Amino acid sequence: MDETLFWIVQKRLTPASPLRTEYRRDHPDFPLRGVIRCGQCNGVLTASNTVKKRSARVFPYYHCARKGCMGVRVRKYVLEETFGKLLADVTPKPEYLPLFRQIVLDVWKSRRESVTTLRAELRRRVNELMEKKDRIYDQYDGRKIDDETYRRQSDRADARQGW
Ligand SMILES: [Zn+2]
Repeated sequence: MDETLFWIVQKRLTPASPLRTEYRRDHPDFPLRGVIRCGQCNGVLTASNTVKKRSARVFPYYHCARKGCMGVRVRKYVLEETFGKLLADVTPKPEYLPLFRQIVLDVWKSRRESVTTLRAELRRRVNELMEKKDRIYDQYDGRKIDDETYRRQSDRADARQGW
């Protein structure tokens, strides 16, 4: 029987003992607990020590946490070694780093350029509208348009500028 399970059962069988059991998700002995998923049910793996009765030796295992799922049961060192190898595989090689840096810089530069272009375009449109407003005012000032027309044109220009 699983050692942890044994103690949980013992606690429940003893009256007046608290039922709550300590459970540390980030157990230092099992760094991959809660990190890796079961290939069969997609539940996270948990871990525990199995004690062999005769030898009293402890064997740490990672296994699926879902009740009844026998998807994964693997020795601690096997899983941790495999995981270490996988990490080494996905870590970028040093010779690729300058290239990676260049790609990031290129993307950043092209995004910055498009923002600059957009800003220039917006500024041009704002200037256009301000000039138009000035012209309307000039017409009003020179009494080429009446009060009503001036107010209407002026409101329209303001609305386009978002003021
Ligand atoms: Zn499972």
